[in-house]
Amino acid sequence: MSVNVSMAMIPAAVSEFMRGPHRLLIDGKWVPAASHRTFPTHNPADGSLLSDIAAAEAVDVDLAVTAARRAFDDGPWSRMAPAARAKLIWKLADALEAQAEEFAFIETLDNGKPLNDAKVVDLPHSIEVLRYFAGWCTKLNGESISISNPGTWHAYTTREPVGVVGSITPWNAPLMMAVSKIAPALAAGCTVVLKPAEQTPLTALKLGQLILDVGFPDGVVNILTGFGETAGAAMTAHPGIDKVTFTGSTEVGRLIVRAAAADFKRVTLELGGKTPVIVFPDADIDRAIEGAARSIFSNAGQICNAGSRLYAHRDVFERLVDGVSRRASEIRVGAGLAASTQMGPVVSQEQLERISGFIASGQNQGAEIRAGGGRIGSEGYFIQPTVLTGTRPDMDVVQQEIFGPVLCAMSYDEADLDRIAREANATNYGLGAVLWTQNLSTAHKMARKLKAGTVRVNGGGLDPALPFGGFKQSGWGRELGREGIEGYTELKSVAMAL
Ligand code: NAP
Ligand code: MG
Repeated sequence: MSVNVSMAMIPAAVSEFMRGPHRLLIDGKWVPAASHRTFPTHNPADGSLLSDIAAAEAVDVDLAVTAARRAFDDGPWSRMAPAARAKLIWKLADALEAQAEEFAFIETLDNGKPLNDAKVVDLPHSIEVLRYFAGWCTKLNGESISISNPGTWHAYTTREPVGVVGSITPWNAPLMMAVSKIAPALAAGCTVVLKPAEQTPLTALKLGQLILDVGFPDGVVNILTGFGETAGAAMTAHPGIDKVTFTGSTEVGRLIVRAAAADFKRVTLELGGKTPVIVFPDADIDRAIEGAARSIFSNAGQICNAGSRLYAHRDVFERLVDGVSRRASEIRVGAGLAASTQMGPVVSQEQLERISGFIASGQNQGAEIRAGGGRIGSEGYFIQPTVLTGTRPDMDVVQQEIFGPVLCAMSYDEADLDRIAREANATNYGLGAVLWTQNLSTAHKMARKLKAGTVRVNGGGLDPALPFGGFKQSGWGRELGREGIEGYTELKSVAMAL
């Protein structure tokens, strides 16, 4: 980390927002938690206090669900003409675009990510997700069905909004996560209670302000900041919530499924990942090095789909490991607001310790550190981009989601696709996979063999039109794309004897 870096000037509107007060959005109004309790949110770059935030508990959840219920059951939202819903969601996208700069600053302060990443990834993607789903409002149709029962029939299906949605989001891409849940829910005609992660509540609250500004009816979106064990658990247990959508850890996903089982709430889960990056000897190795490094070091590795396991053919393995290790040592790690920063701190002391613990356990089990491996400085939560070699499939670092900038590099001997796929598939996760090859046949064959919700060949990136989600313990259901909005609907079959 360099000292004397030039820091971006925080806009006055951001400073004013940071001062608060930061309350709960319930039924179109900002209110304190019923208990008047608050909790602090910190800047991961130096651990300093940013703001105090209202801490919602079960009573507040009840009020928010009642408001969302009313807005859904008798209110204007579910009955609003689809084109009118589309206009409001689009208006929210425009408002977000107009304040993108402020949002980027707030995201960087709260989460730690480089300001430029917030500007070129988080904000544009959030805006596009809103616009993409605004377009779906007018395209959610059923179909007519030919049935063979005796008699003459007219049969068709319709898609109806599932109802009140409780969304629980993580801290790695706070605004993007909030928008990815809210946009399809609103487009489908649902109302929402959102609980952002306790580490990064600020952009969700700022989004709440825009939601009021652009004129969403009261109660359509309610935002409850607070803790998972209190507010989150009260949401998943609440009988007034019809569906829970969650992104976060596999352990909490399991708790949510258990809670939701009581009344069979609909559940969509985006959980962890252990994405393999598989490099074939015919690949464009320079691009593969660049891509592999970006895949694991972007957002300090705090991405569920981060390419955390590198599998390279032994003929190109050394070149790849060298290249990625060189990239790792060149990455400028620093405060997100510093102009030169390419990788920010991780989100919290807890995550810093968790990642350091994984690196130590890898070493204890025989892994070798080829790049990084340590903490940087003693202030803030900075960790070096790290490359481990000598890792074996049975090690914890290879099996578990580290959620930090730590790559496990492994080689394979022969180009036996079944064997490579077997090894790539040998974790409990199945979120993503990345292939680097110039051979079309290899790419297509591997894409079929991989047990992953998303397979990328020779590149990366998110697109709102591309469904995203996991096989195996990486989740249930899909977000984004047509499947993403259909997940917020119930399908009804109507059959009429004529
Ligand atoms: P987490 O506990 O799963 O948190 C995600 C969200 O769930 C937060 O809003 C959290 O609230 C809430 N939550 C926690 N316990 C809950 C409960 N019993 N009922 C309902 N909601 C609950 O994730 P984390 O602790 O922040 O991170 C731990 C690990 O999870 C990471 O190291 C990483 O491996 C994984 N993770 C994965 C993703 C992903 O995108 N797939 C994202 C984040 C983390 P709080 O604010 O109180 O925590
Ligand atoms: Mg914070």
